[in-house]
Amino acid sequence: MAAISTFQDALFRVRSLAELANIDPEIIEGLSHPKEIIMVNLPIRMDDGSQQYFSGYRCRYNSTLGPTKGGVRFHPNVNEDEIIALSLWMTIKCAVVDLPFGGAKGGITVNPKELSPMELERLSRAYIRVLADFIGPHRDIPAPDIYTNSRIMGWMMAEYDSIKRTHAPDVITGKPIELGGSLGRDDATGRGAYLCTLELIHKMGWNLTDMSIAVQGFGNGGYHVARLLQQAGCKIVAISDSQGGIYSEAGFDVESLWQCKQQSKRMKGVYCKGSVCEIVEYKTISNDELLILDVDILIPAALEGVITKHNADNIKAKAIIEIANGPILSEVDDIIHNKGIKVVPDVLANAGGVTVSYFEWVQNRSGQSWTLEDVQQKLKEKMITSFSAVWDLAEDEGRTLREAAYVKALRKISNAVEAHGTRDYFVHN
Ligand code: GLU
Repeated sequence: MAAISTFQDALFRVRSLAELANIDPEIIEGLSHPKEIIMVNLPIRMDDGSQQYFSGYRCRYNSTLGPTKGGVRFHPNVNEDEIIALSLWMTIKCAVVDLPFGGAKGGITVNPKELSPMELERLSRAYIRVLADFIGPHRDIPAPDIYTNSRIMGWMMAEYDSIKRTHAPDVITGKPIELGGSLGRDDATGRGAYLCTLELIHKMGWNLTDMSIAVQGFGNGGYHVARLLQQAGCKIVAISDSQGGIYSEAGFDVESLWQCKQQSKRMKGVYCKGSVCEIVEYKTISNDELLILDVDILIPAALEGVITKHNADNIKAKAIIEIANGPILSEVDDIIHNKGIKVVPDVLANAGGVTVSYFEWVQNRSGQSWTLEDVQQKLKEKMITSFSAVWDLAEDEGRTLREAAYVKALRKISNAVEAHGTRDYFVHN
């Protein structure tokens, strides 16, 4: 269990913002309790013949708006508290962007980098074997998250199909294209955050090509948002991964960094011309140093809880785009706000991933495959509409973007609960 309960932190925000939004106390209470949690121990036969046990979790937090939806994370720090918090954030996220889904999350406590591909496959399939009745295309639909990818989703779908003697591509999203995945799902989280960043820059009246940007985390989300922002004319001056980061005032070529990291598994300042990589001037920095750089926009794209009372006062960025889930602890929301920093919250900024997951599910259920242009256009519409709705609510009611996003989501969930009939209805009729 983490030192600070991530779930308690997430719940604190939900409860206080729900009060702000005048949500019925009974509904707030309902939103304070996860619907179903499953914890399993998975025995796996390792390549050397030994048997190892791995803990797995899945939480369906709330299904008011539809089947529950959310990724599966493979990470050494996965624990029940974190998974519940992440499933609560998924509940809010799906409501912010108006998807017909509730929220869920799953994970396995494992360092996948230490497993062979076959051990990883056995573990992924074992997870689905125990969860086969917990998930389902109308019940709970997993997807990738930290250190899981389309190949793992493919194994999981195949396991589900063989247990249920069916073909159900709509049970899981983020699959390989050949197995029913959607075009445009791979960069959807980064693209959604990129679209939010463009909208913010536009609303603030800033100049795109003046922007200096630091990205913490160089996984799927961090890579694509950095790549797209650089293509749009911004300067990506710092990037880090779990090992540390690099800084260059002149800015990096993101694609070259990515290629270099794929090959050497290390971050280096390089420009690749053909097969020749040329090292450029750069400074090595720690992840902590990256967060407090004097840049225009900071993009935390790694794990939760990185901006805390220990560093919040030192943040110099004008805006923070949260691609990671929960990078800013609720205890510093006020500090960040009082410093005048604009935060595009995770539940909006990283919703591009689950949005294209929804498109994938729709395509699977209707037997269609949309073109990349179609997917990207629909994602753009969804992100811009959602961003504008949150922005306008914030302006109209004098709230931060995070408060506005939560208020929007909580009102939507609350209206759906009320449509079923609440105490008020039964008492007064
Ligand atoms: N894991 C991603 C998230 O945190 C995507 C979830 C999904 O596609 O269902 O939003």
